[in-house]
Amino acid sequence: MSRNHFRIAVLPGDGIGPEVVREALRVLAALSEETGLSLDIREGFVGGAAYDRFGEPLPEASLSLAMESDAVLLGAVGGPKWESLDYALRPERALLGLRERLGLFANLRPVHVFDDLLDASPLKRSVVEGTDILIVRELTGDLYFGKPRGVRVEGGQRIGVNTLVYTEGEIRRIARTGFEAARARRKQLLSVDKANVLESTQLWRDVVTEVGRDYPDVALGHMYVDNCAMQLVRNPRQFDVIVTTNMFGDILSDEAAMITGSIGMLPSASLGDGRGMYEPIHGSAPDIAGTDSANPLGTILSVAMMLRHSFSLDTEARRIEDAVRAVLRDGLRTRDIAGDGTGLTPVGTVAMGDAVVRKIRDGA
Ligand code: NAD
Repeated sequence: MSRNHFRIAVLPGDGIGPEVVREALRVLAALSEETGLSLDIREGFVGGAAYDRFGEPLPEASLSLAMESDAVLLGAVGGPKWESLDYALRPERALLGLRERLGLFANLRPVHVFDDLLDASPLKRSVVEGTDILIVRELTGDLYFGKPRGVRVEGGQRIGVNTLVYTEGEIRRIARTGFEAARARRKQLLSVDKANVLESTQLWRDVVTEVGRDYPDVALGHMYVDNCAMQLVRNPRQFDVIVTTNMFGDILSDEAAMITGSIGMLPSASLGDGRGMYEPIHGSAPDIAGTDSANPLGTILSVAMMLRHSFSLDTEARRIEDAVRAVLRDGLRTRDIAGDGTGLTPVGTVAMGDAVVRKIRDGA
C-alpha cells in the first residue's frame, strides 16, 4: 500500500508569499478531506519576516523544520524594506541557504499554456498555442555561489566581482536530470550556454555532450542563451526540455512565464537527493501585496508538483491541475491574466482559491 501520511514544512515568507500560500494550503486541505490523505503541516518564518523577528533570514528553527519534513512549500521572500541590509542578511539569502542545506540542485519549471489563457499572453495566440516546455535550471553553482565575490576598491575606484564556477560533477548531475526528464517527455533536450565567450560554459557543453552518450534515445541540441531568449518568443513550440545554468535559467524562465500569460501561473520544484522544495517562480510582488490581487495558481500548481515528485501521488496531483483548468474554463481570472477586452471581471486571490477548492470538492 502506498504511504498516505506526510509532513510538510510551510515557509510563507514576505509580500504576497503568505497570501498565495494560504490558498494553496486550503486546496491541500480540501484534497486531504476528499482523499483521506493525512498531512502534518508546520509553518516557519523565512526571509524578511524571519529577519524582523529573529535578526536573520533563515533561522535555525526554520531550517530544522525543513530538514525534518518530507517536502517544503515556500511562498516568496524579499521586499524594499530589507534592500539596504548586508547581502548576508537579505531575505533572498534564505533561498540560497535552503537550496544549499537541503542539497537542492535541480529546479524544474514547467511552462504550460492553458487553452483558456491563450489570449492572456502578450504574444500572439498562434505563437503560444500548444507550448509545453520544461526548463531544468541548475541551482547550486554559477555566479550565485562562486568566489571571489564582492565589491572592493582598487586604484581609487570600486570594482564589483562575481565568479562563474561550474565543476564537472555539478554539470554531470544536472545533465542527467535533464536527460531523464526528456526521456519521460518528447525526448528532446536542448542545453543552453554561452560557450562562444565563456570557458566555464564550454565545459558545460562538453560535459552535457558526454552524458548524452548514455541517452542515445534523446535528441540533444545546444543553443547560445541569447539565441534561446529570442527563439522563446519567436517559436516556443520548438522546445521540449531545456537544461541550463543557474543564471540563464533564472532569466529564461521569467521570460518563458509570459508565454503562459503571467509569472503568477508558473510553479516550480527544486529537487536533490532528498526532500524537495516547491514554490511559485515569482517573487514577493511588493507592488500588489495586501491588495487581494495576487494570482495563487502558480503556488497551487506547485503543491501539485509536490504531490507528484515528493509523494508519488500522481492521481492527486492531476486532480489539482484539473481543478485549475476547470476554474480557468469557467472564466475566472485574477487581474494579471484577465487580458484586455476579454470582458472578464477579475477576481481576487481568495476568490480564486475558493473556486479551486470548490472544484476539488466537486471532483472536477
Ligand atoms: P516579482 O516576481 O515579485 O514581481 C514582478 C512583477 O510580477 C510585479 O509587477 C508583480 O506584481 C507581478 N507578480 C508577481 N507575482 C504575481 C502573482 N502571483 N500574481 C500577479 N502578479 C504577480 O519580482 P520583483 O518585483 O523583481 O521582486 C520583488 C521582490 O521579490 C524582490 O525583493 C526580489 O528579490 C524578490 N524575489 C523573490 C523570489 C523568491 O522568493 N523566490 C523570486 C524573485 C524575486
